[in-house]
Amino acid sequence: MSEILNPFHTVQKQIKDACQRLGLDDGVYEILKQPQQVMTVAVPVKMDDGSVRTFIGYRSLHTNVIGPGKGGIRFHPNVTLDEVMALSMWMTFKCGVVGIPYGGAKGGLAIQPREFSQGELERLSRGFIQALEPVIGPEKDIPAPDVYTNAQVMAWFMDEFSRLKGYYSPGVVTGKPVSIGGSVGRNEATARGCMYAIREAARDVGLPLAGARVAVQGFGNLGTHVCRLLTELGCVIVGVSDSQGGVADPDGLDVAALIRHKEEQGTVASFRPGDPIGSADVLELDCDILIPAALENVLTEQNAGRVKARIVAEGANGPTTIAADNILTANGVTVVPDILASAGGVVVSYFEWVQNFSQFYWTEDEVRERLEQIMVAAYRNIVRLQSQYDVTMRAAAYLVAVERLAEAMRLRGWVGR
Ligand code: NAD
Repeated sequence: MSEILNPFHTVQKQIKDACQRLGLDDGVYEILKQPQQVMTVAVPVKMDDGSVRTFIGYRSLHTNVIGPGKGGIRFHPNVTLDEVMALSMWMTFKCGVVGIPYGGAKGGLAIQPREFSQGELERLSRGFIQALEPVIGPEKDIPAPDVYTNAQVMAWFMDEFSRLKGYYSPGVVTGKPVSIGGSVGRNEATARGCMYAIREAARDVGLPLAGARVAVQGFGNLGTHVCRLLTELGCVIVGVSDSQGGVADPDGLDVAALIRHKEEQGTVASFRPGDPIGSADVLELDCDILIPAALENVLTEQNAGRVKARIVAEGANGPTTIAADNILTANGVTVVPDILASAGGVVVSYFEWVQNFSQFYWTEDEVRERLEQIMVAAYRNIVRLQSQYDVTMRAAAYLVAVERLAEAMRLRGWVGR
């Protein structure tokens, strides 16, 4: 079998390990081993040239045992049903780790958004929400941005859902623009949460952040903000990459100039001064902290042994295969798992949803302060279980989340004692 495991099987294995370690009723794994509801839709769109094309989309709800579904919608050509299901399951554990009252969900459209005009993208986004309307809602399942979707797409989603319902329903999606019910601080939330997790991990391994060398794969929403925030703490960004290539400089890249270059040129690959590198080369750069912030399965059996970082903070979902994880652990690398390191976005999404219900909006300082409290508490809770069970941080994170879910299942009568 190929080492690049189906992500669905990877997450199943992680759940099974946690259930066994905790000695849980078999029913817990039986319920959690797959999503409880999966929807596949074909969305017809009238293109600018007058033709009609249909695009395939998915929405998966893993479990609603502790609350409505929550998770992003991505627009990417590689979207598959298996990937969406696996990502919905990861979302359950991400919410569980940080203790927010949601189950996991995820959605996606298998498209290359660059090939669409704005008008086509809007019609497609609205068509997708029309198709998903029976399964989403503020108390059912709440989408958010993910790869190649953004606040504008969320605004279309919210508007279309509100039209269908006949009333203003901001709580149906999070990651909206602030002027129509978004939360301040949401744009940078995943990166800020990742930065807090990195700060705690660096403290634990005795790595001073002032002067720490950081490499980041992916220079989108997460990658740009995490570079900026870590620079504010004194870190030096020694390499970044995106889908078209990357750039490295052991003396440090000028992050503000890099962000401007990405905005103007659409890629970091042509940024100078710096040495051009491939999209994946950034993973093997000489650095202290590595942040995969693009797609899944980028750290594999082939390259994990060449990772030089002391800390790998998984900003992306599922960037490390099981074999790679074992190699990194054996090499003494601290892997801050995705379900913690990338949880900041869903935490501030939760804040946004709470603010939508109350229609009372918080300041940026309040958002940051509450996010920091939640991330630091989750990190410390994981580290406590890590030493109690003598496991990796990833395994400990699953223990935290699965225990919470199992307790809810027992109390609701879904499983026995
Ligand atoms: P984004 O679309 O803003 O950016 C993705 C970036 O990855 C782009 O710069 C793209 O060029 C780059 N990329 C794509 N393929 C690549 C490759 N093969 N090599 C190198 N770079 C590549 O997406 P984002 O919101 O920043 O999300 C990135 C990751 O973080 C995803 O795994 C996503 O699921 C995860 N994540 C995002 C959020 C969020 O709130 N934005 C929350 C949790 C997790």
